[in-house]
Amino acid sequence: MKPERREILVQILNEWELKNKSFDWMDDAVCKGTDTSLFFFELGDGQKEMAAAKAVCVTCPVQQECLVFAVDNGFEYGVWGGMSSRQRKAWRIQRNKMRKAR
Ligand code: SF4
Repeated sequence: MKPERREILVQILNEWELKNKSFDWMDDAVCKGTDTSLFFFELGDGQKEMAAAKAVCVTCPVQQECLVFAVDNGFEYGVWGGMSSRQRKAWRIQRNKMRKAR
């Protein structure tokens, strides 16, 4: 029997040395099964491509989980959780400041 797509993805992600290995949220992702090039467009593409990806993310019920997953694991490329790489970096810095302040 062929393994499910999700099982293959989880197997690949398990082989990476990820800090955050929570994958369950992916089942509810709006982008599940879609063309990932929407979120990983070419370097040099402009605001139009970024806006198209973010427009999908804004409807996603697991946007926060996606963002935390990407930031925890230091993903530098693509749109995750409705944020660009630069936005995620700023969000991570802000989160770290808030954690230290507690
Ligand atoms: S927030 Fe965006 S990239 Fe993340 S799972 Fe949802 S649609 Fe996909």
